[in-house]
Amino acid sequence: MSKAKLATVWLDGCSGCHMSILDMDERLIELAQQVDVVCSPYVDTKVFPDEVDVTLVEGGVANEEDLKKIRKIRARTKCLVALGDCAVTGNISTMRNPFGVEAVFRRAYIENASLQPGEPHEDLPALLPQARPVHEFVPVDVFIPGCPPSAEIIHFVLSELLQGRKPDLSARLKFG
Ligand code: SF4
Repeated sequence: MSKAKLATVWLDGCSGCHMSILDMDERLIELAQQVDVVCSPYVDTKVFPDEVDVTLVEGGVANEEDLKKIRKIRARTKCLVALGDCAVTGNISTMRNPFGVEAVFRRAYIENASLQPGEPHEDLPALLPQARPVHEFVPVDVFIPGCPPSAEIIHFVLSELLQGRKPDLSARLKFG
């Protein structure tokens, strides 16, 4: 039987949701028998492949590169899962929104810089005016809240999807 293609990506997140995936511990061995991880921070794939069965997305959409990525990922993924509160609601990634991009850059690169203060202009993707959750840019099929979501709930969602069922999280939801 062919394995399902699984990808995980992170946009504007802290990697905590990816740490929670690793917290599945020995269940990762069982999962590895059912899926091929075709793109992820855990593997060395440079290009997001076509026809991915399930993609877990950590983080909000905060800059032009995130936006380009999530549109491509959506076009190439059958089931897109928003993983964690940043992807689901914006959460931490949206904390800069009330201040505006210029004030955030000034604070980060000038006011708080002890060495060579100055705003970077090259090789940085432009920030969007506001960081926003994933579903505001592309359709999302499954939402997993939590900061981070527990390994148990991630395992539950993946198990259900791999058995062809849409996971029912109504009894398991947790924000924050
Ligand atoms: Fe980090 Fe929490 Fe955001 Fe996940 S939801 S990326 S753990 S801040």
